[in-house]
Amino acid sequence: MHDPPILGGDPASSFLINFGHNEQATGVRKHHPKTYEEVASLVRTVRSQGGKLRPMGALHSWSNIFPEDDTDVLFLDQFKKISQDPTDYTRVTVQAGVLQSELADWADSAERGPGRFSYLSQATVVTGVTFVGACQTASHGR
Ligand SMILES: Cc1cc2nc3c(=O)[nH]c(=O)nc-3n(C[C@H](O)[C@H](O)[C@H](O)COP(=O)(O)OP(=O)(O)OC[C@H]3O[C@@H](n4cnc5c(N)ncnc54)[C@H](O)[C@@H]3O)c2cc1C
Repeated sequence: MHDPPILGGDPASSFLINFGHNEQATGVRKHHPKTYEEVASLVRTVRSQGGKLRPMGALHSWSNIFPEDDTDVLFLDQFKKISQDPTDYTRVTVQAGVLQSELADWADSAERGPGRFSYLSQATVVTGVTFVGACQTASHGR
């Protein structure tokens, strides 16, 4: 079992740059919580400071939806659960850290039981992005 890829580059660096290298932010604080409780606590803390917490995926978007400088940025790369409705294998739920490639691997895996190899729609063919990020941008919107 591999560790999940860390999104957002070096977690200790306050610099953020997108995949296309045309958007960047400085002075950011990167957060990689592991539990819902940690996410909730982070939301409360940043809110009490009057700040903004910006969730990001794999940073493939290249429009000005990128985080501003000096903001708190949330990466949910530790949230990898994929689950399937036991009565309907076309209904699948993914957590926000799931990459398109991971969803595709899971869709064809034995873990899926009778649903294995059945069609699951994906918003874009780019495999390195998160499913949520692709939904948020409609693959190539803002
Ligand atoms: C043909 C094509 C054209 C494309 N054109 C564009 C384009 O015009 N503009 C563009 O921006 N991208 C474009 N893309 C890039 C890219 O594929 C999508 O933006 C990408 O799917 C985003 O996924 P990501 O994981 O990299 O998300 P990110 O780029 O990291 O985030 C994208 C958006 O989703 C939000 N987001 C991510 N995770 C969460 C979360 N957990 N909760 C709430 N919000 C969240 C972010 O705040 C951000 O606003 C294009 C891709 C293709 C294939």
